Amino acid sequence: MEKFNNQLIESAYLELKQEFDLLDDKSKILRSKTLTDLLKSIKDQPDSNRAQFGAEVNRLRDFFQNLIDQVNRRVVAKLDQIDISAPFDSNLVVSERPHLLRFDQGSIHPINQELEEIISIFNLMGFEVEENLELDDDFHMFDSLNFPKNHPARDDYDNFLLEDLDNQGHHLLAPAHTSSMQHRILKKNKDLLLTESIAKIIPGRVFRNENIDARHEHTFYQLEGIYVGRNISLGNLISTLEIFLNQYFKKELNFHTQPSYFPFTEPSFEFVMSCPYCDGGGCNVCSMSGWIEIIGCGMIHPNVLNMAGIDSKRFNGFAWGGGIDRLVMMKYGIEDVRYFESGKLNFLRQFK
Ligand SMILES: [Zn+2]
Repeated sequence: MEKFNNQLIESAYLELKQEFDLLDDKSKILRSKTLTDLLKSIKDQPDSNRAQFGAEVNRLRDFFQNLIDQVNRRVVAKLDQIDISAPFDSNLVVSERPHLLRFDQGSIHPINQELEEIISIFNLMGFEVEENLELDDDFHMFDSLNFPKNHPARDDYDNFLLEDLDNQGHHLLAPAHTSSMQHRILKKNKDLLLTESIAKIIPGRVFRNENIDARHEHTFYQLEGIYVGRNISLGNLISTLEIFLNQYFKKELNFHTQPSYFPFTEPSFEFVMSCPYCDGGGCNVCSMSGWIEIIGCGMIHPNVLNMAGIDSKRFNGFAWGGGIDRLVMMKYGIEDVRYFESGKLNFLRQFK
């Protein structure tokens, strides 16, 4: 027990000690009203008493500073012994947990941080977010996107297929691309076309049953975009992606398109940008070519519009889809996609 030779300070001490024991963040005691009021009142003391009163208040403050230092030292010693790979211990004494949190606060995952930025760029262009499903069916994954039955392109996606059928006889599966949302979004929003356009983006987690290496994950993130209206042109598609990529990488990149094939767009393209790392000169990121294929895109196939109940003779539009992980890797020079799902704290802390 500490003793103070001034009654006011002594009662403040007893009050602060109680408060200290209850605080999660012990350092808050130094900013408590009781203590700051005492410190402020030093100057109002009569001359004869001021020096002694001031010394006692400062001794009170130092007492709590010492207590905080002791607690911090104990926590650091404890942290050194903690096996962070051990399962979460829900029985850990509650009063000890906040100290741990003070030293190792969580943060938003880098994919989510970047996704916020990506969404805000598209929001400014008038695109609204729709949510993705993480369990879908083969109708939305393939049939609604104009994949012919038994077409070999269906095999390109290495789907995780469930044995169950839904009540309409469709196979359930973990979606391998966010395009599986196109039919739903078009159908749900088709009445918008009476007065305006459909402008939606769909970020989501997708799954592929493939071998994992530095460039491939079984679980990753994509962003789908759909724009449908009247007299939409390829020029609209290209300028939308150009604006987005220039904004996201915060530099003026060069672009070109190259022909590709997706059953749900016609014509289909790979959107190619100059390497943001070497500005087109050639480096490891772009395999010395100076160019990076970054987004698959095209004009939405009339069959896809018609299947969703949109008259393809009156309306048309474009769609695109690309990996969010890949964009983030390009932006920060991350060489291994597996870091994102690894739970490695040293990696995650760099994005705090
Ligand atoms: Zn490069």
